Amino acid sequence: MKIESVKCSLCKCDCLRVHSPEVSVTSESRLLNKPSTLWSCQGCGHFMTSVDVDWGEYYRSTYDATLVDGGADEIVSTKDGSTVFRTDLDFALYREKVLDRVSKDAAILEFGAGHGRIVGRTVAAGYQNVTAFDLGEKYQTSLLRWLPEERVAIGRRPVGRFDVVCSFFVLEHDTDPRGSLEYLRSVCSERAIVYLVVPNYERNAGDLACADHVQHFHPERFAALAEEAGFAVTELDCDSAVGATIIVGHASTVQVELDAPRMADLRDRAWRAAAPYRSLVERLELVQSELSEVKSLYLYGAGFYATMASAMLPNARVSGVFDQNPRKHGLERLGALVASPDAIEQAGYIDSTLLVCLNPEISAKVGGRFAPHFRRVQCL
Ligand SMILES: [Zn+2]
Repeated sequence: MKIESVKCSLCKCDCLRVHSPEVSVTSESRLLNKPSTLWSCQGCGHFMTSVDVDWGEYYRSTYDATLVDGGADEIVSTKDGSTVFRTDLDFALYREKVLDRVSKDAAILEFGAGHGRIVGRTVAAGYQNVTAFDLGEKYQTSLLRWLPEERVAIGRRPVGRFDVVCSFFVLEHDTDPRGSLEYLRSVCSERAIVYLVVPNYERNAGDLACADHVQHFHPERFAALAEEAGFAVTELDCDSAVGATIIVGHASTVQVELDAPRMADLRDRAWRAAAPYRSLVERLELVQSELSEVKSLYLYGAGFYATMASAMLPNARVSGVFDQNPRKHGLERLGALVASPDAIEQAGYIDSTLLVCLNPEISAKVGGRFAPHFRRVQCL
């Protein structure tokens, strides 16, 4: 079923169709056998993705928030260009910006806690009054490792008064992020701290191609939404984690309303910020026309971008996959075993092509490093 039109889930205006990618890939690097469509709101500029999937059912059953502290974690780039495990970075920033500023008995609510990668570290750091909410029963056992039963809420939003409300990479999956933020505001104690992390497509263009990210927030639009829901935003950080937006603020008695000039400004900003995505789409089309029959193709990156690129090249033979994440080494991905990039300098690939499948913001740098070892290096 083709979805003909959608209304913006933030401002209710009509959205225009921007693009329907040839392949739909989820944030878990899974291929969906259904087309997705990217939409742009004509009111506030917000981007949304629609796929013919029952998301409520999907998150309860199919989706598994695979990020596990110490397990299948991702690696991410930081401000200085170094790479770290996502949970290490997420927790370090959260600790610095929030936890170090509240007492150890502060009542903390994590909205969409998954398997408890942040909850676990929060409890281990001595914060005892932590409550976790998520949708899927499958998270219950993991969360009970850290929390007593009365502080694990599955499917039913907890009531009460919290001194800190937070969520990490959750609201982009939420079909009603405004409703969720209003709920979070409703359970805040006076001057409670809010801490929210979502992807930022301006610094990681692939977010706009991610099929299960129903919402794609521009940083300024996200901050405005938090203010509409009754939070005062004190920090908007788009630099500490490449490709992520972090908001810090507190519960406020003021609910901001967006007037027409502000909406127009947000719309312009959102459209400009999507320029890297438009370039990515062009490069994917180029890759598809030039590399479709390549007999010896190596991929750098074993995640989202590699899944998308390889699905667009069904006739190319993937001879190997490289990834910097040691937790992926030796696993099978896209028809080959994942190896460390260190292997590149030790072997000869001079007859082969390397396709760098990483966040476009960093892919050129990686591609340049390995150019001497391949016949051709192409970056997404
Ligand atoms: Zn809108």
